[in-house]
Amino acid sequence: ADRIKTLLASVPTGLLVGGEWRPAASGKTLDVHNPATGEVLLTISDAGADDAAAALDAAVAAQESWAATAPRERGEILRRAFEAVTERADDFALLMTLEMGKPLAEARGEVAYGSEFLRWFSEEAVRAFGRYSVAPDGKSRLLVTKKPVGPCLLITPWNFPLAMATRKIAPAIAAGCTMVLKPAALTPLTSQLFAAVMIEAGLPAGVLNVITTSTAGATTGGLVKDSRLRKLSFTGSTEVGQRLLADASHNVLRTSMELGGNAPFVVFEDADLDAAVAGAMIAKLRNMGEACTAANRFIVHESVAEEFSSKFAAKVAEMTTGPGIEDSTKVGPLIDQKSRDKVHELVSDAVSGGAVALTGGAPVEGPGYFYQPTVLSNVPANARILSEEIFGPVAPIVTFRDEAEAVRLANNTEYGLVAYVFTQNLNRGLRMGEKLETGMLGLNAGVVSNAAAPFGGVKQSGLGREGGLEGIEEYLYTQYIGIADP
Ligand code: ADP
Repeated sequence: ADRIKTLLASVPTGLLVGGEWRPAASGKTLDVHNPATGEVLLTISDAGADDAAAALDAAVAAQESWAATAPRERGEILRRAFEAVTERADDFALLMTLEMGKPLAEARGEVAYGSEFLRWFSEEAVRAFGRYSVAPDGKSRLLVTKKPVGPCLLITPWNFPLAMATRKIAPAIAAGCTMVLKPAALTPLTSQLFAAVMIEAGLPAGVLNVITTSTAGATTGGLVKDSRLRKLSFTGSTEVGQRLLADASHNVLRTSMELGGNAPFVVFEDADLDAAVAGAMIAKLRNMGEACTAANRFIVHESVAEEFSSKFAAKVAEMTTGPGIEDSTKVGPLIDQKSRDKVHELVSDAVSGGAVALTGGAPVEGPGYFYQPTVLSNVPANARILSEEIFGPVAPIVTFRDEAEAVRLANNTEYGLVAYVFTQNLNRGLRMGEKLETGMLGLNAGVVSNAAAPFGGVKQSGLGREGGLEGIEEYLYTQYIGIADP
């Protein structure tokens, strides 16, 4: 309890504007809760439109000198931030568990994953190369360079409080962009602590500004339509993403959109079933199922469906729910009452249509927003749970007869973020890569996220890629200089 008190006391409660932590102009505050208990953890500033404008002013003021800062220097700030986050891994993990609910072991995993973007982009900062070439007619010369797009607005969700922030902030820093970060109101403390670490690592004032707010649309609306803003990077729901894309058209902003998912998890008759079950556990229960990459539909060949389902349900039934800070906890609480109600509504709808709960199927009594880890078989094709993002620890299973049907079922969604395929036939695995409409594919793997890989979706799952060689490109624009034959 003392450790928690000391940690919370080290989290800045103000807005970060131009290198200074300050209260909201209105004096308003917002409470951050622990979803395992419902208790208030910390009260922080609640920004309004005036504060957002001040944050953009600071980002705009810092842009020119930041773009002119040596790439190596930008990279080294990121590298120092990587070292600092790694050193304080236990603090970041505990803070995420407290405000978001995930088990401590998973929070530590997120620190490793989230900090890796700092290291990866510290290395990418010095490799934003262009080219010089002779035009086909042999007369003119073509000089192509990369430049930072300029001040960015970064909007992040509550489910991965550190990684969603570093995945945007690190490439923006590497590219030479300044930014305003608006974290989710449900889990803003991790990015507050992270911003403090960035400043200790030597990030100049105004490069990163942070506005925590309970009124996202009203507070950031003016920024999206401000002609000085050049880029919007958003991770969140498709519904909000669509609205932001419409608003971004006003100034024809560069946009990156990481939106919802409805990941199919396909198990073929030739799969290693134990490996498929192990993959299913991670793809479904990591982060309590609160991930846009979470397996949303299990599509299993009819000849192995019974064996897969019973093995999977037996493992899921062993998963203990509880507060993330307890060592025995495998599945933490959902983020709030509304999310839990939505999960239960989807389960009830499936069960009323004929689905059978092999394990779980109900909320957990008592404080916190816990939901029983659940496996549903015989899910009817028209159940809402197959078309809506569940964002909870619930696995609906349907069956298929042949590969063509598996492809048809997997692609039967407006989303296209990630798919998982389990088969021991490599040709079939590669064929699925060609046939599935998805930005990412886990082949015999239940998790694909990696700072060195391009993360992102197709269809209504989004635009652009984060991480990999592609990630920094989202923050650069290409400039071409045509030169007369020298
Ligand atoms: P989730 O389902 O993950 O909560 P949301 O799309 O509601 O997804 O939220 C993702 C992020 O977008 C959060 O930081 C939230 O505050 C922010 N957000 C929600 N509505 C708007 C809006 N109208 N304008 C800007 N940001 C918004």
